[in-house]
Formats: sequence, C-alpha cells, structure tokens
Amino acid sequence: MNRREWVQYGQRQLEKEQIDNASGEAWYLFSHCMKLNREDYLFGMTEEVEEGPETKAYEEMLEKRRKERIPLQYLLGTQEFMGHSFVVTPDVLIPRQDTETVLEEVIATGIQPEKILDLCTGSGCIAISLALFFQPKICIGTDISEKALEIAKENGKRLCPMVEFIQSDLFENVEGTYDLIISNPPYITSEECRKLMPEVRDHEPMLALDGKDDGLFFYRKIIREASGYLKAGGMLAFEIGYDQGNAVKEMMEESGFHDVKIKKDLAGLERMVFGNK
Ligand code: GLN
Repeated sequence: MNRREWVQYGQRQLEKEQIDNASGEAWYLFSHCMKLNREDYLFGMTEEVEEGPETKAYEEMLEKRRKERIPLQYLLGTQEFMGHSFVVTPDVLIPRQDTETVLEEVIATGIQPEKILDLCTGSGCIAISLALFFQPKICIGTDISEKALEIAKENGKRLCPMVEFIQSDLFENVEGTYDLIISNPPYITSEECRKLMPEVRDHEPMLALDGKDDGLFFYRKIIREASGYLKAGGMLAFEIGYDQGNAVKEMMEESGFHDVKIKKDLAGLERMVFGNK
C-alpha cells in the first residue's frame, strides 16, 4: 500500500468504532509512526510503504485507539497549546482549546502581571504559555499530583525554564502575593464524571476532572483564600464549566472581588470568570 492507502486503511479501522475525525486521527498516527511531517506526506502520498516495524507500531496504535479508547494525544505523547508542543501522559489532563480561549481573554484585559500563580497546573500549559507571553519576573505552577508535576517540569525545561513548579494542595505551599492568580481546576460534578466519553472517563486523570458534589468545590476553596495571595488590584481568573458562571461570579463578589466578569468562548458558552481584588 502507498502512504495514502495506509492512512485510508487506518481511517476505516477507526470509523468502525465511530471515532470522530477518523481520517485526521489516522493521518496523525501514521505520520507519527513514519516520522513524516505534513509536507512530506502531501508531496509523497503515492510512495509505497512496506510492512515493517513502523507499520506494526501504527497498527498497534490503531488497535489501542479503537479497543481501549486511548485518546490520540496520549498515543502521540504531545498536544499543541498556544502554538507550543506540550508533552502529555495519562498523568495530566490534555490541554484543551477552551483553555486557550481563557488565556486569550486574560491577555485581552491588557494586564501586565509581574508575578503569576497557576493553581492545578497539570501539564503546565497555562503557566508556561502565560510566562512566554508576559515575560513575568516570577511564574509558579502548582499541582497536588507529583506525577503531573514531573510532566509540567519537563515541559517547562524545554519551553520556558523560568517557570517554577511546586507540589501544593492549592495554596498549601504557596508564599508571597501575585498580580495574577489563574486556575483551571477540576470542575465536573462527580455524577457527570461517570457519564463522560470513555476517552476522558477511562484515561484522563480523575483527579484533574472531578469537582466533587456540585463541581464547585475547588472554586469555593480558592476564592476563600485567594485574597491573601493577591496584591491589591490583582486579578483572579478561572476557567469554568458552561453552567457555572453565575455561581462562581456570586462567590467572588461575596468574597469582595470587584469588576467580576463572565466571558464566553467562540461557541457562545460561558467559559471563564475573572475579577479583581
Ligand atoms: N491547567 C491544566 C489545563 O488547563 C490542568 C487542569 C486540570 O488538571 N484541571 O490543562
């Protein structure tokens, strides 16, 4: 089979299991195993590919994708976020486009934070992307999970070594005050977690998804303590679930934050809340 036929073969395998974007995923897996970039593929689609270790690896990945529903990004080992390639393993949540929207909104406020704190950093995608953009003096990412922090540190070392990663249950081991505290905490209710698509439910870390009974557990805790770690006028910014805007806004206002705003994503869903101390 030539390259295109190998991709089409993979597409058919994935379609049998109703996997969305089967052709795209087949292309990603094939080019990953063959170490081809997009141009190599497009200009050499008709080149014959003999069966060998690479095609075997491809077949194995297709099988894992179909049978075990392992997310594509864990098979590839990377995910693009804000134009950079982040290493991902099942110890961290796969960075989402939704979160890029949140960062774009933060940037659009025009703030110039010199000290940034990212709680529940996971892969480190938020802390690292903000540090690359704002060039702050200090940028810290925290996570409760040691395994997640290993991945965050690996990403930091490669993309932005000034970012510091520390193990901390929210503010537990945090010191100092910040211009910006940002978090995409676990926010899905425990009940909804059980109904997530198998890729997410069975493979992404539950610790990064489960916001407990009403999904608001972490917002509540962070909002209660955030003032002590914010400079006067500093910003607290959250990614939220589409139906959590008002609840989070109210909690922030009750805790004395002002100019609290809910922002929507491109699909018109409420996606973030931010406000100032
Ligand atoms: N901050 C990371 C992200 O946005 C991880 C979030 C989490 O684990 N809840 O992808």
